[in-house]
Amino acid sequence: MAASPLNGQFYFSFLNPVLGLMLASAFGILWLYQREKNYVIVIASGYAMSAMGFALHALGPVLNSSSIRVVSNMCFLASAAFLASAVIARYNRRIPYHLIGLLCAAGLGGFCWFVFFDPDIEKQIYSMNLALGAITIVAAVNLATIPNKQVIDRVLFAVSLLVATNLMVRTYIILQIAGPFDRYEDLPRSIYWSTVQVSHALISIMLALTLIVAVALDLVRQLKTESETDEMSGLLNRRGFDQAAQLMLDECAAHGRPAALVLADLDHFKAINDTYGHAVGDRVIIAFSDLLQASVNPGVIVGRIGGEEFAVAIPDTTLAGARMFAEGVRVAYGATTIPGPLAIPLTASFGVCAFDDGDKLVNLLRRADEALYSAKRDGRDRVRTFPGESGNVPHLPTDVDMLRFTH
Ligand code: GH3
Ligand code: MG
Ligand code: MG
Repeated sequence: MAASPLNGQFYFSFLNPVLGLMLASAFGILWLYQREKNYVIVIASGYAMSAMGFALHALGPVLNSSSIRVVSNMCFLASAAFLASAVIARYNRRIPYHLIGLLCAAGLGGFCWFVFFDPDIEKQIYSMNLALGAITIVAAVNLATIPNKQVIDRVLFAVSLLVATNLMVRTYIILQIAGPFDRYEDLPRSIYWSTVQVSHALISIMLALTLIVAVALDLVRQLKTESETDEMSGLLNRRGFDQAAQLMLDECAAHGRPAALVLADLDHFKAINDTYGHAVGDRVIIAFSDLLQASVNPGVIVGRIGGEEFAVAIPDTTLAGARMFAEGVRVAYGATTIPGPLAIPLTASFGVCAFDDGDKLVNLLRRADEALYSAKRDGRDRVRTFPGESGNVPHLPTDVDMLRFTH
């Protein structure tokens, strides 16, 4: 007598299709708001594939069709491939398409063999679960080898190991207890299939929560970077500079290392804007920013802290070292040419001061600003220090001294 379709298992079979669709929609909506993050839509596709796989699986016995079971398992493989690829893509790593494709082909090949040529339900199950587990391990191996792991990276790694264990170890244990299956019709009502449905639902939710936290953290990181970066120059803005420089100074203080601050203000910038237009002014600001960026070693904090005002916080450097750095930038800036037919004399003034142990950034900025003011007052295109030097460091003339702007 055919069992009524309206039994507990019938309703249970809705669990994963509905859950998969809900999670696919959640990631789909997340992606709509940040379309540049391709991996988010790949996660959504992974859950959609899982939903489709379980829905087709539920239809398998109803339609009594082996080909539907093959398609259903293709969906499971696609789901694993999408989720593993998305996790790898989150780290901007190269996705091993060939390896994942090979594992999918091996899983599907084995499954089809044991469906059509050498019917054996347990071997069908092993073919599929070993392939799905191996795809998950590909993602786990990638997660294990990323440098500077954050908490979320470790959690993602642990969850992928759990997914692989669920697919491989759980399958083996339950099949030892619940197998063997003589007829495919027995499978959907078996304890084996119930554990697949429950464990898959729980693990899907666990993975989805981890991935949602990962997407949220990526967004927070991106917004933080944007809020601390000056769009035009690519340098840190005032907020970003203050935070990074104070952190660096605290670190120097903790280890008794010296540090220094250089402030720079482009000379006669209003005149450049007025004579050649704002767009040329912007190009000059970008040229100076590029020069600063190219002149510093890693660990040096460079910011555009005002319209045409810049700050450079240099660790492990004395007042004399910072002064030499500023002189170098001054001379190099004087030799800079802006693309286009315009010959603009470019000069800037600099104020330099040293970090006194335990000093706050705001005090350094004040002292460097005082030195910068002296440089402006003394005729611009020069470097001044705080405390002032009695002319013992010569002002190096540059070619552009000849072209000095006369406004
Ligand atoms: P000084 O030699 O004394 O520094 O004279 P200055 O003309 O450079 O005077 P100041 O530093 O006060 O001038 C700043 C000018 O920079 C005023 C403002 O119009 C211009 N400026 C600020 N931000 C930008 C920007 O993003 N692009 C352009 N093109 N100009 C800017
Ligand atoms: Mg200024
Ligand atoms: Mg200026």
